[in-house]
Amino acid sequence: MTTNSSVLSSSTSFFESDTWLFSVYVLTIYEIVFWLCNSFLIFIELVDIPWIDQYRIQKQKKKLRFQPEIVRLMIKETIINQISSLAFLPILYYTFEYFGHVDLHGSRPAWSTVLYQIALFILSEDTIFFWTHYLFHTPWLYKNIHKKHHVYKQPTGVTAVLSDPIEAIQTEFAMWFMPVFLKETHIFTICLWVAIRVYQTVAAHSGYNFPYIMTQYWLPELMPGAIAHDFHHQHGKWNYGSFFSLWDQLMGTHRLSASKTTVN
Ligand SMILES: [Zn+2]
Ligand SMILES: [Zn+2]
Repeated sequence: MTTNSSVLSSSTSFFESDTWLFSVYVLTIYEIVFWLCNSFLIFIELVDIPWIDQYRIQKQKKKLRFQPEIVRLMIKETIINQISSLAFLPILYYTFEYFGHVDLHGSRPAWSTVLYQIALFILSEDTIFFWTHYLFHTPWLYKNIHKKHHVYKQPTGVTAVLSDPIEAIQTEFAMWFMPVFLKETHIFTICLWVAIRVYQTVAAHSGYNFPYIMTQYWLPELMPGAIAHDFHHQHGKWNYGSFFSLWDQLMGTHRLSASKTTVN
């Protein structure tokens, strides 16, 4: 385990420090996945391609087409999101180093370790996310915090970043609790986790039910992905989980269509 002195060493400038290196790795992966997915989603929102449009989930409604009002909101929110990431990532690194250690320089761990840790991250994130999201749908918390995320009943990838600062803390807590708790992780595993989580949330808000590249194509009941979260935005309730439908099935909040309830 490295000591905190290496993190805080005054002889090393911030831009040569592991704090900086960690922040650059995580932010780069985040931005690459976020903007690759969203560039594609923005493009297909603006251009009509019938063989792609057939996969829209809310086909009964017009496409968003990014009118000026949504463009303004998204630019503002994505800028706030990026700036808060710049402030948050060093704090996250200090938290990692306070409770354990992130290996930034060693070689990649065995795939079995990487996959085992990623599985734990997903299970933990899904559980914390479900319960906190469930709470956010109680009247006071919804009105004062979570409503901002539900402005659009017809979500698209970039709307994933719409959130109150308190909700942003909830999202980060759900995402980072297990990685910090594990004490020993590697930057490769952390970056893979960031890529998976960003892809998952952008896909869930995409408004499309694409074959092959989305979890609901392979595991429609267990990982309903965009189908479940789009329905959640459309109705403002049900499907509170992120990766899995397990907690929703257990709590009777799993619903994928207005007429049919798929519960326990
Ligand atoms: Zn919600
Ligand atoms: Zn959402």
